[in-house]
Amino acid sequence: MPGFREHITGSTIVGVGYGAAAWYVGEIPPLTCLLGTGLCSVAGMLPDLDSGPGIPMRESVAFAAAVIPVMLLPRLEQFGLPTEALIIACGAIYLLIRFGVTYLLKNFSVHRGMFHSVPSAAIAGLTAFLAFAAEDPLHRYFVASAVVLGFLTHLILDEIWSVKLGMFGPKVKKSFGTAVKFLGNEAWANIVTYLLVIVLGALAANDAAITEKLAVVRQQVEQAARQYPSYPVTTPVYRR
Ligand SMILES: [Zn+2]
Repeated sequence: MPGFREHITGSTIVGVGYGAAAWYVGEIPPLTCLLGTGLCSVAGMLPDLDSGPGIPMRESVAFAAAVIPVMLLPRLEQFGLPTEALIIACGAIYLLIRFGVTYLLKNFSVHRGMFHSVPSAAIAGLTAFLAFAAEDPLHRYFVASAVVLGFLTHLILDEIWSVKLGMFGPKVKKSFGTAVKFLGNEAWANIVTYLLVIVLGALAANDAAITEKLAVVRQQVEQAARQYPSYPVTTPVYRR
């Protein structure tokens, strides 16, 4: 099984390629590209959250607890909350993730269970999409895809490691097929996973529709501003 280091190396390489490609194409600003690279790299350790207490779990939970409140800040600000409430909300989210998620993972996760599956990659991507409230819809899709890409890199690396080259061609280990899968052995885990996909998917679709609409409105306003420049057009002369 590839370890923590192999996974983080793999997803970082993929993330750098992804960010660089987006930057090269030019539709995405460099900072968003950098964020995509970082998230792709970190998402490469997410599936191993199920491997029990250890570096992947401790580090990724602590990282998520710190980064998710920051990603949520613009969303919380949309509610017009005062600064005090923002600080309290961020603190509460941090504690919830740091201790709540750790408790759930320690007690309910099975290694190579539904954490290593394609629907879980979708959950990770949808969560990133909902948390990251960018003005431009394209940036949100880009960031969410970065998370899915990092997650899938992990699953594929797990599968690659389960194939060994023997004397008579490739040999398959027992763990083959337990990473890139759609259903696990536990019925309740499958149900919870797919319910999450449906609920988060519906929320994301609703949210995407709102952002798309806002983006269209913004475009129209900008176009109108270009068509009807404010009068007078001469540059103003300021007095000292
Ligand atoms: Zn794994």
